[in-house]
Amino acid sequence: MKRAVVVGSGAAGATAALALQGAFEVTVFEAGREFRPLAPSLGFFEKLKRAGLLADARLVGLAFPPMRTARTKDGMILVWGRATGGTTPMTAGNALRLDRDLRALGIDLDPEFAELGREVPISDAHRARWRESTRRLYETFDGMGLAPRAMPKMADAAKCVSCGRCILGCPTGAKWDARKFLAEARTRGAKVVTGAKVDRLVGGPDRVSGLVVRRGLRRRFVPADLVVLAAGGFGTPALLERSGIACESRLFVDPVLCVAALWPGALQNREVQMPFAAALDGFILSPYFDFLSYFFDRRWKAAPGDVVSLMIKFADTGSGDVRGARIRKPLSAADRDRLAGAVRLAEKVLARLGIAKERTFQGLLNAGHPGGMLPLTAASAATLQDARLPANVYVADATLFPSSLGNPPSLTIMALARKVSRLAAGRWA
Ligand SMILES: Cc1cc2nc3c(=O)[nH]c(=O)nc-3n(C[C@H](O)[C@H](O)[C@H](O)COP(=O)(O)OP(=O)(O)OC[C@H]3O[C@@H](n4cnc5c(N)ncnc54)[C@H](O)[C@@H]3O)c2cc1C
Ligand code: SF4
Repeated sequence: MKRAVVVGSGAAGATAALALQGAFEVTVFEAGREFRPLAPSLGFFEKLKRAGLLADARLVGLAFPPMRTARTKDGMILVWGRATGGTTPMTAGNALRLDRDLRALGIDLDPEFAELGREVPISDAHRARWRESTRRLYETFDGMGLAPRAMPKMADAAKCVSCGRCILGCPTGAKWDARKFLAEARTRGAKVVTGAKVDRLVGGPDRVSGLVVRRGLRRRFVPADLVVLAAGGFGTPALLERSGIACESRLFVDPVLCVAALWPGALQNREVQMPFAAALDGFILSPYFDFLSYFFDRRWKAAPGDVVSLMIKFADTGSGDVRGARIRKPLSAADRDRLAGAVRLAEKVLARLGIAKERTFQGLLNAGHPGGMLPLTAASAATLQDARLPANVYVADATLFPSSLGNPPSLTIMALARKVSRLAAGRWA
C-alpha cells in the first residue's frame, strides 16, 4: 500500500488522517506530545499572580506546555496549540459553518458538513444551564437589537458541568476535539508519532520523495507517496518556507480583545465559554472570561468570579507573514477602526448593566485563528491545490482560506481538510 504522511494532528491533520487511512498507510507526525488538560487547581497560578510573577503571557507555555504563544511587534499575543489534537483541545468548542468565501470560489462542502454533523456531537443544549449573569447579558444584547444566538458547541451537553475551563482542556471529556478523529484513525491502523517535528520536504518542484523529521536530536528521512500539510496557519507556511516554497504575506489571525468590569457574583469563569454571540459588522461580541488576561494583565485585579467580560473577535486584514521563527502581523488602520467601534459597542452593553465606561478595563490583545498564506483562488478551486506545491503535496488547513472569518473556523477547516484528502486520495492512492 502507498504511504501518506500527515503533518500535524489538529483539526485539519486528524481529519485528513482519518480520511486517508485505508487508502494509504498513514503516518501522522506531531511536534507536540499527548495533550493533558491544565492541572485542576488554579490556586498555584493565583499565588504567582498575586506575587506579581506572571508579567508576560509568553510564560503560559511553562505551566501549560500544549499552549504556545508569541508576541508581535505591536504587542499582540498569538496563541496556538502544540500537542495531539493541535489547538482543538484548547478551544471554546464553538461549531460554526463558515464557507461563504469558499462557496463563492465554487467549492461545495455540503457533503462534508453533512457528514461532520453526523459524526461530531453539536448542540446548544448548554443554554438550559446558563447562569443568571449569562441570561441577563443575553437579554441585554437582545434588548439592544444585537440578535444574539446561543453558540452551537462540539460537546456532549450531558457531561458538561459548566466549569468554564474549556480553553484549559475539558476535565470531564464533555467537549469534542480532534483527538477523537485521531483515535479513530489509529484504530484503523494509522501511526501517530509525537514529539516529531517535520523539518522540510525533500524532492524537486514537481514531486517530493518524502520529508525530514526531527525527533529529539535525531533527524531522519521518511519516504512518502503523498504528503498532507496540516501544521496550522503558522506551522504550514513555516514548513513550506523551510522547503523553499514561499507563501503570500496575507496572514490573518482574528484578533481578540476583552472589555471587562467588576460585576460581583457574575461567575463567568464558571460558565461554558462563549455561551452566545452576536454577529456584527466584521466582528462578533460574546461573553468570555479571558484566563490569559486574568493571569497576565495587571488590570484584571478582581476575583475571577466577580468579573464580567465581553470578547470582541474581529476579521482582520490579511497582512503579515511567518518567516523562520518570526511571525509578523501588523494591524492596519481599518483593523484599528473596526476594533475601536467594537470597543464602543461593548462599553454600551456594559452601560446597560449600570457599569460606566470609566469603570471598564480591557484585556490583552490576542489571537488564535491563523491562516490565509496560501489562499485558494478560482484557479485552484477545482484541485484544491496551489500551483506552487509539488504535485503530491497538499495543504489542508486554514492556510487555504481566502480571507479571515472573524469567527471560529475549526468546523470549516475540518470540512475542507476532508475534501482535500479525498481529492488527494483519488489522485494518488
Ligand atoms: C484559545 C483558543 C480558542 C479557540 N476556540 C475555538 C472555538 O471555540 N471554535 C473554533 O472553531 N475554533 C477555535 N479556535 C481556533 C481553532 O483551534 C484552530 O483554528 C484550529 O485548531 C486550527 O486547526 P489546524 O489543524 O489548522 O491547526 P492546529 O489545530 O493548531 O494543529 C496544528 C498541529 O500541527 C503541529 N505542527 C506544527 N508544525 C509542525 C511540524 N513542523 N511538524 C509536526 N507537527 C507540527 C502543531 O503542534 C499542532 O498540533 C480557538 C483557538 C484558540 C487559540
Ligand atoms: S464548561 Fe467545563 S465541562 Fe463544559 S465543555 Fe467546557 S471544560 Fe468541559
